[in-house]
Order: sequence, then structure tokens, then C-alpha cells
Amino acid sequence: MSFTTLPNHLADKARRARLLEIEARLTEHAFPPQLVIENTSWCNLTCIHCSHSELKRANRHMDRALWDRVVTEVGQVSPDCEVWPTFYGEALLLGNELWDRLDYAASVGCRNLVLNSNGTALGSKDNIERVLASPLRRFILSLDGFKRETFEHIRRKAKWDRVYPAVTELCRRRKERGQQFPAIIAQFTVLPDNADEAEAFRDYWHQQGAEVKIRPMLEWTATGSIRTSTITHGDDFRIACPWANNTMAIHQDGKVVTCAVDYEGLCTAGNVAELSLAECWSRLAANRAAHRAHRWAELPEICRGCGDWQTAGAEYDPLRVEGTRPFWFGNSTKD
Ligand code: SF4
Repeated sequence: MSFTTLPNHLADKARRARLLEIEARLTEHAFPPQLVIENTSWCNLTCIHCSHSELKRANRHMDRALWDRVVTEVGQVSPDCEVWPTFYGEALLLGNELWDRLDYAASVGCRNLVLNSNGTALGSKDNIERVLASPLRRFILSLDGFKRETFEHIRRKAKWDRVYPAVTELCRRRKERGQQFPAIIAQFTVLPDNADEAEAFRDYWHQQGAEVKIRPMLEWTATGSIRTSTITHGDDFRIACPWANNTMAIHQDGKVVTCAVDYEGLCTAGNVAELSLAECWSRLAANRAAHRAHRWAELPEICRGCGDWQTAGAEYDPLRVEGTRPFWFGNSTKD
């Protein structure tokens, strides 16, 4: 089974089996294994598979003091927690401030920093050098298209001529220096518009020395207008959601929300400006337990209507460097 054939997750036997396998490994964690932190809610793109253009809440950067507070707790309590400094925005829009924030996080003990970017600002200033000098373990570029016209159609407002050469140059310099970290990962979200380019995409980025991650499309909960025929609503089959169980997501104003796709913050569990991360995580415990026990009626409304749990499991290359996969990855090439 490959995501590039655009399988309907619940109609595909292999996908159902895979989802059950992922669910069987879910367990309760005393502290979130993954933290998604919105350093900024600004984004400069309006991608066709993203709800950012429908966002009603404010576009702004997270206060620096709040970021410092959060990463200090991670460094003290769980230094190997995966810290993703992006949620619903483009982190490179913070300019030099981003690199300071990452350095600060590393200085207080965070060992597992993973940054996602649309790559549009990578070629500006000395950002390529800053990526290579940063404490990042992984740097994931969301690219979603191989041909110029496909890339620019999906990643609306992005220019192929700015992004592809910059990511290619990043790969070249990293290879030249023989650096292991950060792993450079070219991400491809499969849509009907790009599915036929996945293999060319994979070949190109492998030739540059990057890794490739292929993932199915999300709907960003069922509260916006983004929909895909690969997700089913209203089926009896359901698994406990991996995001609910493994990830805590924080908006730029400090609000802890349902998960990393609750972009509008429709269900909140406190604010990290007032509470510790551990306290917020424990407030989400009832939701995690309800998911794992299949007590669907007890889920918050946003989870009840959501089908994004069906997209769990992305396809990765075989592991090259230890420490460059999500915590639950194991020996698999899919997660
Ligand atoms: S079911 Fe949807 S909204 Fe609920 S935690 Fe999972 S991904 Fe988030």
C-alpha cells in the first residue's frame, strides 16, 4: 500500500490493519513525548490543503518569555521530548529571533528540536548557514510538488525558483561538511494534484542527500473547509487518536489546545503562561483515556467530528542516523 495511490484509509484493508497496529502501541505518558509550540501564527502562504487562510484568531509571534519558560521546563523535566517550534505558521518569519530561540532551548537542555518550514525564506540572509549551525535534529521542508506548476499550484504564493534552489543548496553544503544533523527531510503530502510526481520527487531529493517523508493529506479537523476523499466520516471503525495521546500543542498565546490540528483552539486545557506543561498535560488525561478506551461519546466535539486520526503513519526512508525519527518510530519505515 502506498499513499500515492490515494487509498481511502478505511476502505483499504492494509491501512486499517496499519492503524490498528499504531493504536496498539499507544500508551499513557507522564509528560508529553512531543510538544508542538507555535512560535508564530503568521504564514506567508495559502496552500490549498491548509486552513490557515480561514484562521480567525490573531496572527502574531509568541512572546519570547513564554517560549523560554516552556523550553526551560522541557530541559528540566524531559530533555528528549520532541520539541516542534512550529504549529500553524512559518517559523522562519521570526528572522534571527528564531535561531536565538533554538539556541536558548538547547542551552537549557532540550536535545530534540525538530523544525518544519515552507522553505520560502531559506535562501534569504544567512538562513542556510543558520540551519546548519543550529541545534536542530531534523529540518523538515514541506514541498508537496516536484514540477514548478504543481508546486506553485499547491503551495500558493511560494515560488519554485526560490525554494527548490535554496533547499538544494542546503543539502549540498550539509553534504560537503559531512554533517549528520540536522537531518534534512523533504516532505510530500499526497493530493490528487501531485500523486503522479511522488516518485520523481523522491528520486530528486535522494540525489541531493535529503531524506523523503510521504504523508497523506489531513483535513485539519472537520471544522474548516479542507476535505479529502481519502478520509471517511461516520464509519463505525475508529482507533484512539495518536495525536491526542502523544502530542501536546500550544498556540502562540500560550493556550494548550486539543492537538496539533486544532488550529482555531476550539478545545483548550489551560495556558502555559499560568500552568506548567505537566499540569496542562494532566488536564488532557481524560481525553487521552477516553480515546484509548473507545469511549467516543466522551470525546470533545472537535475529536468526535474529526477524521484526521485516519492519516496516522507517514512513510519515511529507512533510518540513516539514530535520533532522527519520531519517538515511537521503532524499526519501521512508517509512522
Ligand atoms: S481526533 Fe482529531 S481533533 Fe481529536 S486529537 Fe485526534 S487529530 Fe486532534
